[in-house]
Amino acid sequence: MRVACVGECMVELSERPDGSLVRGFGGDTLNTALYLARLGVTVDYVTALGDDPWSDAMVEAWGREGIGLERVRRLPGRMPGLYIIRTDDAGERSFHYWRDSAAARDLFSEPGAAETRAALEADDLVYVSGISLSLYGEAGRAALAETLAALRARGGRVAFDTNYRPRGWPDWEVARAAFRAALAQADLIFASVEDLDWLFGEAGDEEVLRHRGRAEIVLKTADGPVPVARVLHGTSDTKVPAGPVDRVVDTTAAGDSFAAGYLAARIAGLAPEAAAAEAHRLAGAVIGHRGAVIPREAMPALAF
Ligand code: ADP
Repeated sequence: MRVACVGECMVELSERPDGSLVRGFGGDTLNTALYLARLGVTVDYVTALGDDPWSDAMVEAWGREGIGLERVRRLPGRMPGLYIIRTDDAGERSFHYWRDSAAARDLFSEPGAAETRAALEADDLVYVSGISLSLYGEAGRAALAETLAALRARGGRVAFDTNYRPRGWPDWEVARAAFRAALAQADLIFASVEDLDWLFGEAGDEEVLRHRGRAEIVLKTADGPVPVARVLHGTSDTKVPAGPVDRVVDTTAAGDSFAAGYLAARIAGLAPEAAAAEAHRLAGAVIGHRGAVIPREAMPALAF
């Protein structure tokens, strides 16, 4: 079983009160790839970077985590995207991006795009998020959709996580159309009701639930006392609540690690409901630590 995660990882700068910046790396699909690798899944990260020192450092860090690097395209003279996390006096964080010229955005238009597409078509499972979709523009998204259609025709599967960031999109209609198309191509859907309501308005979950029966769906709600994953497959429809968490320190990568936990558990043969419980366990550990990537020693023991 070979999994490919498609998307963008950026240089992350966290601003301290004195204005100095601490460098890290961040990206939703990369987080998922990293946790998949830690859970023993064979995973490639599919993206484009530049030939600069930060791109080198990213690739080195991913290699140390056991993520497959063969399909990372390195574009001469280009750079990764960058963002600054600013924390105001009230502790609220805001994100500020320089990503329009990031190499990752050209994954489906750079000279090696045909190779990238051919490799994706041969994968067993391709994981894409709503943020990945926002990177490529209309032509790139069409190329990705064609690639995923070819993969599915061969018997491969597509997992889609609805991560929605309005800033990544020129307008709502473009985003809605792209999400609808991706949902229709997904065999496994991770959706947060919050994202869906934001994008589609009230009852956004209907946009996902219309695929019940055909697709396996994990619909995450966070309006009760604990987050709940509603798991739908075939005719079954079950609510799997998250277990109690000692302390929520930082919810960065909660959804990304949830997806990794779920996919790894499913690949290991667990049923969807049991996979959701394991996914909650991993996400629960991730939110107990600062940052997207928790220390290896903090990885919870999962039931597979
Ligand atoms: P995202 O918005 O990043 O998709 P979610 O809010 O959907 O993240 O949360 C993903 C998962 O993180 C939840 O399904 C749950 O497993 C875990 N989680 C998040 N917040 C909490 C919490 N307060 N208590 C327990 N688990 C949580």
